[in-house]
Amino acid sequence: MTAAVIYLDPIMLNPVIEGVWHHARLAGIPDPGESITMLCGATGVASFLPLGQRRNRSVPRQCDSCDVVVRRQRGIPLRQSRIGHS
Ligand SMILES: [Zn+2]
Repeated sequence: MTAAVIYLDPIMLNPVIEGVWHHARLAGIPDPGESITMLCGATGVASFLPLGQRRNRSVPRQCDSCDVVVRRQRGIPLRQSRIGHS
């Protein structure tokens, strides 16, 4: 059968592991069941669900460790260090 390809942007992927969403720098779209590593070092097995199911169990919160990594890479001040400087 002819492939029906659904293109996804790997930059936009924020994998959720046990209610916490992470940043991941992926070379491409992982296959379902493929092990992927987050910026903070957490690993998980890739699975895909519609975005509408993201909040079904609980609203995911952001991974603090990934947030620190991304802020350092982009030159954004850390959240803690901004307190008291304004
Ligand atoms: Zn993380």
